[in-house]
Amino acid sequence: MKMQRTCIKDIDEKKDGKDVLLKGWVQDIRNLSSVKFLILRDYSGVVQTVAKPKTKVFDAVPKISIESVVEIKGKVKKNKEARKGYEVIIDDLKVLNEAETLPITVLEKGINIGLSKRLDYRFLDMRKEKVRAVFRIQSEIINAFREFFTKNDFIEIQAPGIISTATEGGTDLFPVKYFEKNAYLAQSPQLYKQMAAISLERVFSTMPVWRAEKHNTVRHLNESRQMDIEVAFADEIDIMKWMEEVIQFIVKKVIEKCKDELKALNVNLKVPKAVYLTYEEAVKKLKGMKYGDDFENEHEKKLCEMYPDTIIFIYEWPRSLKPFYIMPKDDKVTRGFDALYKGMEISSGGQRVHIPKILEEQLRKQNLNPKDFEYYISAFKYGAPKHSGWGLGLERLTMCLCNLDNIREACMFPRDRDRLVP
Ligand code: ATP
Ligand code: MG
Repeated sequence: MKMQRTCIKDIDEKKDGKDVLLKGWVQDIRNLSSVKFLILRDYSGVVQTVAKPKTKVFDAVPKISIESVVEIKGKVKKNKEARKGYEVIIDDLKVLNEAETLPITVLEKGINIGLSKRLDYRFLDMRKEKVRAVFRIQSEIINAFREFFTKNDFIEIQAPGIISTATEGGTDLFPVKYFEKNAYLAQSPQLYKQMAAISLERVFSTMPVWRAEKHNTVRHLNESRQMDIEVAFADEIDIMKWMEEVIQFIVKKVIEKCKDELKALNVNLKVPKAVYLTYEEAVKKLKGMKYGDDFENEHEKKLCEMYPDTIIFIYEWPRSLKPFYIMPKDDKVTRGFDALYKGMEISSGGQRVHIPKILEEQLRKQNLNPKDFEYYISAFKYGAPKHSGWGLGLERLTMCLCNLDNIREACMFPRDRDRLVP
């Protein structure tokens, strides 16, 4: 019978003394005179394999190039000094695909190579333990987000990535040629999730969004992924609560399921608390800021330092600082909010304007022509409950949970001002 492959994570006391077939990448070779070590890696872990003298593999092992793909047959043996407590004594070894000389090292010490070069070779870079840890955690973030909202009766919707006009106005869009028409890449699923929420009540989505802003910062990408919700019969306070709860749920899941990854990244993650401040209260806490100013990143950082391991919700923003589609609360303030965590904005949202007359007034106030927004306004003419929603940046949240200092570390194949490949 054909021997079944064993995954490295399954090498434990139950396998002691047993024959196994392993497949993976050659992470490192230690060429000693008396014995040869081949450190083998697969998706699930790393194990030390050993070529003993006077075996047919003893001379072959040192000749194998790093990162070659190999198949190893051998016997599991207890060894207190080995990283997993077990090693595998090689009986037979086959090179399945030989690697050429590597353009960047994938050993952990190689992490000091400049980020740009690492991103040029991301397909190799992601073989490093720390890099894999980031994307394993990111995968858990999305999983937990889906799990949380699905179990709370939300449905996942798929909004279009190509749109005919700006959803919001403001941000720069990437134009695309769409047959005879001009179209754009969507900078947010906003309008579409609103249209879904006024019919289906509770919706969420995860999708890439595109922003053609020429910024070049450690917090901005030109293509990022957004986790969004939109909820009917809810106001801004209700949806801030949803965010507090989903982030706490996500962090708990990451702590529970990604222990090794957090250890590899040297991150001591805590489930965050939440604090709710009005814009006015937040401004008063910051020197040099006055009512009506927008938050710069330095302000976000200072505020976050005052509340470690806390999500800071800032609400009741002045009307001049929030877009036309955010519901006014009174003459002065809106029902919009921002959420800050670990030194930066991770989300914006609020209650939307669902009354066509107010939308038209708000558009005129911002010197926009309601005629240009006819398609948007008309969606709310046929029985639209009040509704609220937010968008949470996936890469930004990944940065927060993994303690990364550049958003490009939290994106497998980043698109920024200068980068379009790989
Ligand atoms: P910022 O002020 O930090 O540039 P924003 O207010 O322009 O962000 P929103 O339009 O509120 O961003 O988008 C919702 C969320 O999506 C943000 O809070 C952030 O988490 C994420 N996000 C927005 N723009 C980017 C970007 N260029 N790159 C990565 N994530 C982004
Ligand atoms: Mg924002």
